[in-house]
Amino acid sequence: SAKKQGGNKVIVYSEKLLESNIERPKLEARLRKAIENGKVEVYYQPKLTVDLGKIFGMEALVRWNDEEFGFVSPELFISIAEDIGLIHPLWEFVMKEACLQVSKWNLNRSEPLSVSVNFSAHQFQEPCSMVEKVKEVLSESQLSPSNFEIEITESILLNNSTEIVQSLKSLQSMGIAISIDDFGTGYSSLNYLKNLPINTLKIDKSFIQDIHEDYANSEIPEAIINLARSLHLNVIAEGVEKEHQRDFLLSKNCTQMQGYLFSKPLNSEEFERLLQRE
Ligand code: C2E
Ligand code: MG
Ligand code: MG
Ligand code: MG
Repeated sequence: SAKKQGGNKVIVYSEKLLESNIERPKLEARLRKAIENGKVEVYYQPKLTVDLGKIFGMEALVRWNDEEFGFVSPELFISIAEDIGLIHPLWEFVMKEACLQVSKWNLNRSEPLSVSVNFSAHQFQEPCSMVEKVKEVLSESQLSPSNFEIEITESILLNNSTEIVQSLKSLQSMGIAISIDDFGTGYSSLNYLKNLPINTLKIDKSFIQDIHEDYANSEIPEAIINLARSLHLNVIAEGVEKEHQRDFLLSKNCTQMQGYLFSKPLNSEEFERLLQRE
């Protein structure tokens, strides 16, 4: 439901209607306005250690709660933003907001939090200016590059462009971590894992949610955990909702997790309260 996904308004329009040609032009216009006027918001979902449940970072997730349409799912409005040329300003907004916020939180902490931001494939159309923008945002927000991570999907690596690989390498050489989101659901060869600049595999939530109480259906997440270990990559599980899924991760030495079991994505006030409770 909209609530569960971190919205605070109930969906008024069905997804079908929103996607239909009838509402689409209006939706596009309202999205454009929302981005221009800073009406989209950044939510934060905690990332935790599996053993102690300690927060070490978070993923920034964009939210749009429109006055008329209500909560619109990010999957839908991000694809619209991509279609109508708004994904760059949206990305900049989310990245700036997230870096400023986490940099502020880190002022009061002995152990800094690290934040990840989702990068769309469109962000890699001009890899050089993308890298420049990242540098600019980090220096303006005074967030250390080692506390910044980018999440990309395997599809970005599919075309094997040297420009893209170079841009990832230069981000990584600054200390920024590169994470493969929804790992296991793409179609690319495993070859890239050895040759490309990657730090983290993020096990797709569908694999985590398939794990039964008796650990049936856990072959794939287990294989991903082992693969990451052999390649000396970090591994994190997303979509952890149930206690037995956490227990499974603990038993396989997967040390990081994210999911509704601990917390849905939160707005900055809610996240701050969570940090104060720790
Ligand atoms: P993602 O990057 O794979 O993000 C994880 C999604 O899983 C988020 O959905 C999150 O709310 C949801 N989730 C987290 N824990 C659980 C759980 O325990 N159970 C279930 N069922 N779901 C869980 P959300 O926020 O709706 O975002 C969906 C997708 O939209 C994201 O998938 C990402 O691909 C995209 N997205 C979100 N924010 C941004 C953004 O700022 N930029 C870009 N380019 N894409 C974004
Ligand atoms: Mg992600
Ligand atoms: Mg994911
Ligand atoms: Mg996803």
